[in-house]
Amino acid sequence: MTYDVINPATEKVVRTISLASEQEADEAIARASKAFETWRNVTPADRGRLLRRFADAVDAELENLAALEVENAGHTIGNARWEAGNVRDVLSYYSAAPERLFGKQIPVAGGIDVTFQEPLGVVGVIVPWNFPMPIAGWGFAPALAAGNTVVLKPAELTPLTAIRLGELALEAGLPPGVFEVVPGKGSVVGQRFVTHPAVRKVVFTGSTAVGKQIMAGCADQVKRVTLELGGKSANIVFADADLQKAAAQAPYGVFDNAGQDCCARSRILVERSAYDRFLELLEPAVKGFKVGDPSDPSTEMGPLISAAQLERVASYVENPAFQGTAPTGPGFWFPPTVLAPASERAVREEIFGPVVAVIPFDDEADALRIANDSEYGLSGSIWTRDVGRALRVGRGVEAGNLSVNSNSSVRYSTPFGGYKQSGLGRELGPDALDAFTETKNIFISTED
Ligand code: NAD
Repeated sequence: MTYDVINPATEKVVRTISLASEQEADEAIARASKAFETWRNVTPADRGRLLRRFADAVDAELENLAALEVENAGHTIGNARWEAGNVRDVLSYYSAAPERLFGKQIPVAGGIDVTFQEPLGVVGVIVPWNFPMPIAGWGFAPALAAGNTVVLKPAELTPLTAIRLGELALEAGLPPGVFEVVPGKGSVVGQRFVTHPAVRKVVFTGSTAVGKQIMAGCADQVKRVTLELGGKSANIVFADADLQKAAAQAPYGVFDNAGQDCCARSRILVERSAYDRFLELLEPAVKGFKVGDPSDPSTEMGPLISAAQLERVASYVENPAFQGTAPTGPGFWFPPTVLAPASERAVREEIFGPVVAVIPFDDEADALRIANDSEYGLSGSIWTRDVGRALRVGRGVEAGNLSVNSNSSVRYSTPFGGYKQSGLGRELGPDALDAFTETKNIFISTED
């Protein structure tokens, strides 16, 4: 079965790829299972060295990977370079891990007690279309570092960079079978990762609806699962903030990647006394947001991923307060859009497009009430000059990743993940390795 990969900025076919059948998925899983027997015994120093070589191969290929993502996903070239660089950095960060997977020596009576962090086996990584490179890397880099082998399924719409990363792994010297890329349908290949007994863990990033099915499917074999799901994050602006800066930065917090970002701050909550002023400052920032050819380095926003996504996003927009501009087509273009007021549906649901609701609040308690009135809890921002307030409100928001006077959500060395229906478990940072290992305890008697 084949699939035409489309450039969302031109609607032209970029490449036709073949989608794996269930049998081909089984064959990839079998190769990964076999490779696990040797990969787990590669010395920690050599495993680290191979991951560093993989990072170097990604670095050498950075421009090509970025260009591929511009063509396949419509990402701006600036973003795509960051994304390829993020894969390099994540590999490089976790390449230090094999020699630092320390167990513990625990004081007990009658002997010596030690723990070991052991790999799980084959890890299945299922990736969405919105950030094909980084999200793949957040799964496969720590999994490989901990001694697992990986089967990776990219999204149907965006398989090209994953396919290239699979080739780069081999070129860097990773043994065949250690990192298998299996393009295919979610209902076939993704589902097989869930049901195949040799896959010991699934790392799923995608919609909350599919994430729930994955979790239920994994329950059957008590399979380990990490879920990174949807978001409806709040950008909370207090009247004492640097309003100019908050308004100038707000578009980047939600329109980046055309709003197809799980961390998109798609609700801007503004203290009522600053509400009108904030909208006045936001309007030129939104209207000046540069939307167009993603390969132009000055472009700030590209197209949406598909015609279906365009239709979905448009369905949320009625009587916008104001909008920016966007090309008319070909391509799946939608302008940056501000809703004030917004419909209940636009305030509650993850739109996954360049649409933001601006909502007034009365005081800190009201801001927290509105921010937490969501089934999601992934990220968010707090804009204030008062450090005490920033921490108080930050501790009160039910979300995994918050930033103060900033839109930043992701650093490879710090934990990332969601509260509530935004997910389960954490990726990135040192603790992510726990999610790719089992703890084994061995007691050695010292009695005569
Ligand atoms: P999706 O859930 O439709 O698909 C995600 C992946 O799962 C794809 O590879 C798809 O083929 C596969 N899949 C679909 N059905 C499956 C099934 N039954 N069994 C196994 N695999 C299956 O999501 P999407 O539309 O590709 O991505 C957008 C969603 O991803 C948004 O909700 C977004 O918030 C979320 N997301 C979350 C994060 C995070 O870190 N929290 C990051 C990026 C995207």
